[in-house]
Formats: sequence, structure tokens, C-alpha cells
Amino acid sequence: MTTRITHLIGGRPWEGTSERAGDVHNPATGARTGRVDLASADLVGQAVATAKAAWTGWAGTSLARRAQVLFAFRELLNARKHEIAALITAEHGKVLDDALGEVTRGLEVAEFACGIPHLLKGGFSENVSTRVDVYSIRQPVGVVAVISPFNFPAMVPLWFVPIAIACGNAVILKPSEKDPSAAVAMARLWTEAGLPDGVMNVVHGDKEAVDALLTHPDVRAVSFVGSTPIARYVYETGTAHGKRVQALGGAKNHMLVLPDADLDLTADAAVNAGFGSAGERCMAISALVAVDTIADALVEKIKDRMRKLRTGDGTRGCDMGPLVTGQHRDKVAGYVEAGLAEGASLVVDGRDGDFDGDEDGFWLGPTLFDDVTPGMSIYRDEIFGPVLSVVRVKSYDEGLALINANPYGNGTAIFTNDGGAARRFQNEVEVGMVGINVPIPVPVSHYSFGGWKNSLFGDTHAHGTEGVHFFTRGKVVTSRWLDPSHGGLNLGFPQND
Ligand code: NAD
Repeated sequence: MTTRITHLIGGRPWEGTSERAGDVHNPATGARTGRVDLASADLVGQAVATAKAAWTGWAGTSLARRAQVLFAFRELLNARKHEIAALITAEHGKVLDDALGEVTRGLEVAEFACGIPHLLKGGFSENVSTRVDVYSIRQPVGVVAVISPFNFPAMVPLWFVPIAIACGNAVILKPSEKDPSAAVAMARLWTEAGLPDGVMNVVHGDKEAVDALLTHPDVRAVSFVGSTPIARYVYETGTAHGKRVQALGGAKNHMLVLPDADLDLTADAAVNAGFGSAGERCMAISALVAVDTIADALVEKIKDRMRKLRTGDGTRGCDMGPLVTGQHRDKVAGYVEAGLAEGASLVVDGRDGDFDGDEDGFWLGPTLFDDVTPGMSIYRDEIFGPVLSVVRVKSYDEGLALINANPYGNGTAIFTNDGGAARRFQNEVEVGMVGINVPIPVPVSHYSFGGWKNSLFGDTHAHGTEGVHFFTRGKVVTSRWLDPSHGGLNLGFPQND
């Protein structure tokens, strides 16, 4: 039995008939569980028109009222987080605990956005020139699009949507067509929270829908998260059509381990950050850069821990779930072949796993390679699966140079007990998010999330005050109340006095 998953436009499920639809699977069984409608450019146009019509009223709604809606949404999301987590596990495959974790991290952003009256306070300077005051205000952008990836079907939309709405915009969310149900469930909560119909819309689709959003004249801003080639395309196309765009891309995250690190804590962290969510996290550690003197001992400890991991159906209390689709599982398994062919040492082979789930599930167990070198495809490419590569280096300097030479710059971590080395690393590494003895340094919601280099196109990171900045336009008012002393003709450029 398959469920139809359709668009939510103007607060209601779409009642039309779609010419195209995509398959949604339960990755733990391999069964097709849903068919998701894929929007045409025409339908995207209708959604944008609905959002635009709702926008004017919402932009004029008081900050007090907007904050009330945000608080109500926060309460509803908190109350329903287990339902949302179950939808994520059923379509993405990650284990329930982890799914709940992503909803909780998203919830943090809704909590941040509840403070919108404070966040939108402008600056005021009295008497910048005699009896002249200057103040700044920030106003909503208009209709904004959020285009999200499969790997965080709740958290990534939540990085943007609550802030966009709190700032007074209307939103079209285009979630991943691989696991679209969490987005729809969360959009319904906005309606329950009292958000006027049309301010929050969900349109499902693929390239056709994305292209329609990127070129539509009434879409003013685009927040995108996904792989690097598509992020670059979205950035270039959206900006060429006059939109502000923040496009977060792929990653290859390194964890540098110095000889003085606590190797037990480091091994725990490497396993958690390498294999959590089956490595399908943009902040997953995929390259473990170990200084030679401790590499053997560290690899042994990681191998021991990997033996204890249970891979299986995310509803059964396992540590790690399946990959998102059969095609993706095959692609990742192909990298295991490639690593062997390129001469890396395969320490743990995830293809041999014993899986606690249906035999048709998209399984691949945790895999560990040692002696990986920068020229190998398993090092160069973002694999986005449970494959951890150990690269051995002679020193801190060699490790740092390796990380800085990588074209990605999303997250990185250093494991050490040397405060001086850690401080040098935070200063010298060319990466947007840095962990010191923290393997996945995803910033809390009141800071901003974003990488450098090929991991982000645009200059504004997600959520935190940068999110508020992205979803608003600045205006500066210079005011002088009439005063006879300022009369008279003067064609020169005003000078302050
Ligand atoms: P993806 O790039 O395939 O898809 C992302 C979105 O783009 C989806 O909504 C999809 O429908 C759309 N899309 C896909 N192909 C398109 C095309 N040709 N033209 C226009 N739109 C298209 O990414 P994914 O596989 O869903 O997600 C995994 C990727 O996302 C990984 O590379 C991961 O690193 C990255 N990611 C990055 C971050 C970050 O913060 N930097 C966070 C999460 C995921």
C-alpha cells in the first residue's frame, strides 16, 4: 500500500492531479511506501502567487502577534516531535533516537525565532548632525524559497522557515522528494499555530520545481542546502535572476588527532561522528587524520568499537540504519571497491554485515579504511555513507596543510590536550565550523551554521543573527523635524555639523 504525498498550498492539501510523481521508500524494508507529486513550473507559479497574496498581510502583522505564532508553533512541534521523528525514520532510515535529535536541534531554531521582537531591533543615533536623527530598520524580503536535502528532512527546513516567517516573509518549502512527509507534517503545525493560510507552503518536486523557483520574479530569496554541484548551480541561477541566495553544499570533514589526545575519547568520537546516521550527515567525519605515532593504537580502538555497532531497522533500537535508497547504497559500496583497487587497507568491510532488518533493506555496515592517501577517490569525494578513511600524517603542520588544501570547508575537529595547538588550529584552519574535542561542531541556533569554500556559495550562513539578516532588507532613515534654522538654499552636499 502506498500513500499519496501532495503539496500544501494556502494551508490546504493540493487537490489536482499530478502529471509526474516520485517513489518514496522505507529504506529498512526496501518497500515503496509512498508516491510524491512532483510539481510543474505552472504549479510552482500558483504557489508563489498564493504566497505573495498572503505576504502583504503577514508583513504588516505586529511583532507581538508574530512572536505568539512562533511560540505556539514551538509548543506544537515539541508535542509532536515523536510523530515527526517516526516519519523521518520511515522514509530516511536513520534510527529513531537520531531522528528525534534532529527535530530537537530544529526546535532550537524555532525557540531562537521566538525572540524576533528583540532580534529586529534597529539602531538609533540621536543628533548625528544638529537636530538630525538616523535610525535603521529591517523589513521582510517577500516570498522566499527553501530547498532542502534528504539527509535532514526536519532540521534543515527548520534552520530557515521559523526565522523567515518570524521576519515577516511568506515561504515556499521544496523538501527532498526522497523523504517529503516530515516537511508536510511540520507545515500543518504552522496552520494549527495560527499562521494565516498561504504564509507557509510546501511544494514537492525535482529540478523542474527548483528551476521554476529560481527564475520566478516574485521569489526574492533562496535558501538551499544540498550537494556542491547543485548548490553552485542554484547560487549561479538564482543570483543571475536577481535573488539573494545562500546555497550550502557538500563536505569532506576532517578530524585531526594529535599524539597527546585521549585515544579512548577520540575513538568514541570518531565512531559516533563517522557512522551516526550512516554517515549521511554534512558534518559527518569522513577523514580521520592521525599523527603517525598514535595511528596504530587509534585504528585498533576504533575497530574494537565498530564490532559492537548494530546496523538495522531504525525502529528496533539499532545504532545505525540503512542508506536512503538502493541506488545510494550501491554507489557507496562502489567506493569500498574503489578504495581496495586504489591500494587502501580495508580494516572493517561493511559489506559483510549482519543486519537486523528486512533483507531487501538498503544495507551497508560501518566500513573503515586505513593508509588512505589524498589522491584516492575515497579521500577526494564526498561519499556520504558509513565509510571512514584514516589518513596518516607526520605532524600537526602536515595535517593542517591537508585540511586546508581540501576544496570543501564545512566542519572540522581537532582532538588534543594541548590548548596552544587547539588555539593555533582554530586560527589557521580554513573551515567554517571548528570543533575542539567536539567531533560534530554544529553551532547552536543563536550562532550561525555554514561552511567555507565549496561548502557554501553566498556569504550568509544559516540561522542565528545571519539568518535574520538574510531574511530581511535593511533601510536607514535620516530624519529632521522642521526647524527654521535649517532653511535657505545650499546646493552643496550636506556636511555634518
Ligand atoms: P541534492 O543536491 O541531490 O538535493 C538537494 C535538493 O536539490 C533537493 O531538494 C533536490 O530535489 C534538489 N535537486 C536535486 N537535483 C537537482 C537539480 N539537478 N537541479 C535542481 N535541484 C535539484 O542533495 P541530497 O542528496 O538531497 O543531500 C545530500 C547532500 O547535501 C550532501 O552533499 C550533503 O553534504 C549536503 N548537505 C549539506 C549541508 C550543509 O549544511 N552544508 C547540510 C545537509 C546536507
